[in-house]
Amino acid sequence: MDSEFNIAKLVRRNIRELKPYSSARDEFSGSASIFLDANESPFNHPLNRYPDPRQRELKTVIAGMRKQAVEHLFLGNGSDEGIDLLFRVFCEPAVDNVISIDPTYGMYGVCAAINQIEQRPVLLREDFSLDPQSILDAADKNTKLIFLCSPNNPTSNALEREAILEIIENAPCLVVVDEAYIDFSPEPGFLDLVPQKEKLVILQTLSKAYGLAGIRLGMLFGHPSLIHFLSAVKYPYNINSLTIETALKALKDKEMKQEWIRMILKERARLSKLMEGYSLIEKVFPSDANFLLVRVKHPKNLYQYLMDKGIIVRDRSSVALCEGCLRITVGLPEENDQLLEALSCYK
Ligand code: PMP
Repeated sequence: MDSEFNIAKLVRRNIRELKPYSSARDEFSGSASIFLDANESPFNHPLNRYPDPRQRELKTVIAGMRKQAVEHLFLGNGSDEGIDLLFRVFCEPAVDNVISIDPTYGMYGVCAAINQIEQRPVLLREDFSLDPQSILDAADKNTKLIFLCSPNNPTSNALEREAILEIIENAPCLVVVDEAYIDFSPEPGFLDLVPQKEKLVILQTLSKAYGLAGIRLGMLFGHPSLIHFLSAVKYPYNINSLTIETALKALKDKEMKQEWIRMILKERARLSKLMEGYSLIEKVFPSDANFLLVRVKHPKNLYQYLMDKGIIVRDRSSVALCEGCLRITVGLPEENDQLLEALSCYK
């Protein structure tokens, strides 16, 4: 563990002193057959019951799957809930600040704005690589969180391991590495460092490689003290019964997920190679994720043209360092074929 770093010291005072809501099911553990404690309906079993506020069964499965201790895991309504809670637990409105790479996933900035927190964007280099010193230089005594995203959205590249390690070693605050797309990357990610690095927070999600964006389940891995504060602030029943049930069922099928990943990687390579041959496409950036960032000659026109054909991609052309770029998610082979066909007909 890092010697001088102390999570509790970074937490907002009102949160440190918070007496969290204790739900009926929180106070009970053991076995019982008659539940008259939570003002639930006795009808419509099993959905009449509140879900486990601590998600013990699901956490055990996910922690096992990711080879982490349960005490290091928080489950949220998507990883977006984890992001939001980090702000509410650590950032004092109108006082504190956070740092994020730029460009990156938009929710860090949205959560900062909602919570009246200054966000300090630090540009990646032109080749989308991370300059650790520029991140560290942006930090001051009121910096609470540094957001890194690897592989990064929308640039699609995994950030350099050494650069991330340098930030973790030297940052005065928590370092959040958003690994939403890690399953598509050859990089191992940073989960194995969680038990040693108190500063390190990892976000992962079932929304991408697991094909479960609809159930909203995000994972946050960090120090048990961090998990404690996030759990104190979350809604008591933040993960609903249907999500828990669906996740438990889906996570049993490991083969299926691996097969899906193989298919996405194969399609990503195919799309990338074929798109490079089109004259309207200036550059296809190398991707470690399930999407491609492509620089095109007329991004707005092409975006509209594809939309008129019923193909929706993401226009990122006004994002920093992404001038002229569209972000295209890798779909099913037949969907990708339709995209390629549309591109080949574009005049
Ligand atoms: N992190 C990144 C980098 C993302 O791109 C996204 C969604 N596109 C999320 C987190 C949100 O994930 P979730 O569905 O788990 O809220």
